[in-house]
Amino acid sequence: MTGSFTKLRSGDWGLRVSGSPKAGQTVDAVCKNGEMKTMIIGRVLWEGDGIALCTIDRKQTVPAIHDVGRSSKPDLGMCQACGERRAVTIRRDLNGMTGAVCAMCAKDNSISFM
Ligand SMILES: [Zn+2]
Repeated sequence: MTGSFTKLRSGDWGLRVSGSPKAGQTVDAVCKNGEMKTMIIGRVLWEGDGIALCTIDRKQTVPAIHDVGRSSKPDLGMCQACGERRAVTIRRDLNGMTGAVCAMCAKDNSISFM
């Protein structure tokens, strides 16, 4: 699911998403500088004409690679940094790209999913 950032009436940043999103779904939203960020929908505020306005669930937003305290539950999968099949967590690199990395690679400062 893709969308874009939009200012909500509350003054907070929210998401404008095409389709019928549900709370907890991830959205790849494009920032002003062209970066893609994976955000998680908090609440759907309004829906109509094929688009929906949603709040951002900041508590669940994908943690940065080195954000150890907030890492999500590991899953067995392929690490996108070393290519090994290990317990990986979904992380965000310095460019805002998301990917799966193992615990060892999460310690590497130079990881990029680009
Ligand atoms: Zn790895």
